[in-house]
Amino acid sequence: MAKFTPMIQQYLQVKADHQDAFLFFRLGDFYEMFFDDALKASQELEITLTSRDGGEERIPMCGVPYHSAPTYIERLIEKGYKIAICEQTEDPKQAKGVVRREVVQLITPGTVMDGKGLTDKENNYIASISEFQDGTIGIAYNDLSTGESQVTMMNGGQDEVMNEISLLGAKEIVVGHQFNKDLEKTLKERFIVTFSYEDDISSKEEYAPLLVNIQHEKMVQTVSRLLNYLHRTQKRSLDHLQPVSIYQLQQFMKIDYYSKKNLELTETIRSKGKKGSLLWLLDETMTAMGGRLLKQWIDRPLIDHQLINSRLNMVETLLEHYFERQDLRENLKEVYDLERLAGRVAFGNVNGRDLIQLKKSLQQVPFIRSIVEQLQSQESDRLIGQLDALEDLTDMLEQSIIENPPLSIKEGGVIRDGYHQELDQYRDASKNGKDWIAQLELQERERTGIRSLKVGFNRVFGYYIEVTKANLHLLNENRDRYERKQTLTNAERFITPELKEKEALILQANEKSMELEYELFLQIRERVKGYIPRLQKLAKAISGLDVLQCFATISENRHYSKPEFNHDRRIVIEDGRHPVVEKVMGAQEYVPNNCYMDPEREMLLITGPNMSGKSTYMRQVALTAILAQIGCYVPASRAVLPVFDQVFTRIGAADDLVSGQSTFMVEMLEAKNAIANATQNSLILFDEIGRGTSTYDGMALAQAIIEYIHTNIGAKTLFSTHYHELTVLQEELAQLKNVHVSAVEQNGKVVFLHKIKEGAADKSYGIHVAELAELPAELIRRANQILNELENQHQHAPEPKKIPTSNMHEKSDEETNQLSFFEEAPAGKQKSAASTKEKKVADELQSLNILDMTPLQAMNALYELQKRLK
Ligand code: ADP
Ligand code: MG
Repeated sequence: MAKFTPMIQQYLQVKADHQDAFLFFRLGDFYEMFFDDALKASQELEITLTSRDGGEERIPMCGVPYHSAPTYIERLIEKGYKIAICEQTEDPKQAKGVVRREVVQLITPGTVMDGKGLTDKENNYIASISEFQDGTIGIAYNDLSTGESQVTMMNGGQDEVMNEISLLGAKEIVVGHQFNKDLEKTLKERFIVTFSYEDDISSKEEYAPLLVNIQHEKMVQTVSRLLNYLHRTQKRSLDHLQPVSIYQLQQFMKIDYYSKKNLELTETIRSKGKKGSLLWLLDETMTAMGGRLLKQWIDRPLIDHQLINSRLNMVETLLEHYFERQDLRENLKEVYDLERLAGRVAFGNVNGRDLIQLKKSLQQVPFIRSIVEQLQSQESDRLIGQLDALEDLTDMLEQSIIENPPLSIKEGGVIRDGYHQELDQYRDASKNGKDWIAQLELQERERTGIRSLKVGFNRVFGYYIEVTKANLHLLNENRDRYERKQTLTNAERFITPELKEKEALILQANEKSMELEYELFLQIRERVKGYIPRLQKLAKAISGLDVLQCFATISENRHYSKPEFNHDRRIVIEDGRHPVVEKVMGAQEYVPNNCYMDPEREMLLITGPNMSGKSTYMRQVALTAILAQIGCYVPASRAVLPVFDQVFTRIGAADDLVSGQSTFMVEMLEAKNAIANATQNSLILFDEIGRGTSTYDGMALAQAIIEYIHTNIGAKTLFSTHYHELTVLQEELAQLKNVHVSAVEQNGKVVFLHKIKEGAADKSYGIHVAELAELPAELIRRANQILNELENQHQHAPEPKKIPTSNMHEKSDEETNQLSFFEEAPAGKQKSAASTKEKKVADELQSLNILDMTPLQAMNALYELQKRLK
């Protein structure tokens, strides 16, 4: 090994303890990186790679200036890296040999406290996972920026862990070195997540206040792993951490990872962004805290009737009080992010401006409280007591911090006059001195007769009297008093003994007052720390209120109605809409639909051409249920719902435009998950399941799945399918009913009505759509003929019987007529069975999704098919 310089040796020693992090090694005004860190950082950050003498050889080096380090740190964190900040921990002037350096903080994706790494309306979670001998798994998570922590135990295996991690969107996961490598690999593949290791699961004495709610030993260990990691890496006060609370998965409606994704609850499938999701639609919150809570509520809909109704009742009250709600929104707008502020107070990185914002936020609370008092409902009355305005803190801040403090807390000008006597004295001294100097300038001008003479100040030379060269001769006898200090091109600067004396006084007073101000500021900050628990409680109350007013606002703007719940497993949705599609396309355009299900109608088999609205319809039912269970009104003119314990949404692989990576295997795994976990109280959406494999195969599976759910589970199920043959199942399965979405022809074009109706869609719509797309008449004839032959040959499903429409779905004659649009195909001449080749071609022809093709693509496809028939 080459012999390194002492500093590089020191570097290597520190680095040895931080192998998995970039080591930012403080050298003067820079953070330097060496060796591999330098090579990697220069690439990731696009900064110049240089080298330095490391002893016997030159070693790679790159660095970032100290003051701009936060931006670089943010960029590395975004990419999932960790950064160890290594500072000089002794004064270089006093150091003998190499200055002592230590890592003062490890910044990781799960522990960022400020900057771009934190999004206002999103929590930044770090989670810890512990596996136990008996197969149970503990998960604890914490948002360091807000101090909130929770813990739960589960025994559902890896799937449950995946769901939980995805729901939290955890950026970092802390596990022991023995952690299940399989699961670690899957988690890494599925999510953008950084793994960290902490083997110490013993609880420390100082954790006691955080663990007051927890007795369960495994939970204590799970939480301790996380706390030990946080303390080890953060190396600073974590006074803002709130007592860890326990939650149970069974307390909430369960929506697994895939279903959440498919329903686009908090992000869209395509862009992975918030825009276009249910969260986006709902977000009328006025505070960052409310925004975060809204996401939490969407992530975990309730299943307790009473809790749901209490939210809904408050929404109702707010809806009824329009003016109060507008005022409330105005007031909430002025409320700063109290949760994160509390965290930063504990971390010691708030400045005067933050404290002023804190004060202004607290000053809103009395107004908010008086609005809530006016609401006069059971729910609002309960809230009043929680709106603690912390008057003592407000007063303290009012008396101590000036209205417009500077960003810096070290350069003075933060503390109010009159707050501290000694400070006032220094300020007086400094101010008097400055007055004296202004006076001096006038005096000297008079004495010398030089009108342009001025007294100035700079950091290097201090106070001086400046006389231009042209005027020097006017100094005359005063010249003796003036001592030259500095010569400029066209002026001379002087000092006088009295000026020198005053200068010392002023500078001293300034310096003392700045030091004292800093000290006072730290004291004030320390006092604010004492209020953290109260602030956090207030933050909870305000964010809850904010989400409820958000629900009221949305419900009013979008004409939602208050859902009712029943215990009879009955769904009645009248004029239901898909909330997001409706918003995007405009309420005028959207065609509302009803949905009726009860123990006699457990399953709806939905048929209809592509693009007719099957998927949208199914989703709107699920979203309605979810909205109701988070306590929001629903997009329908009336909704009566059961409380669902779980929602499952599966999309057939071929229809899964989403990832493009979905395989049939995944489709089946997802289906299995639903089938294995659903209960009678669940809602299942199966959207064209079985599409990812060959026709008969897929159809057989689809049918078997339907039968299984029907017979063994009895969950409310919406099953859309392009296998028209399945509609005959209505004959056999008592609780299954056919519904369809129709289309009509207008001026030779297919027009989708997006209207759900009873009964099965006409089977030949595929060919009819092909006809509308103006495929050659001869081809259409032939397709009809093949279809007919196929049907005869395989003795396919008999014609589905038209069933009488229920009351709810009574339709006008006009609409009923539209049903017959897709007329029976003319029977082809009796002919020998189509050859296998022809059958294949016909199959393919039938599966062509013509509406998704350009004319040219359609031509090409036809050409191919024709060629194969020749
Ligand atoms: P399918 O699943 O039957 O192929 P989709 O549900 O994907 O059809 O709907 C296709 C498109 O039709 C949607 O993107 C939407 O623009 C429109 N659509 C669906 N339902 C409605 C409706 N009720 N009112 C208006 N437009 C609708
Ligand atoms: Mg669809």
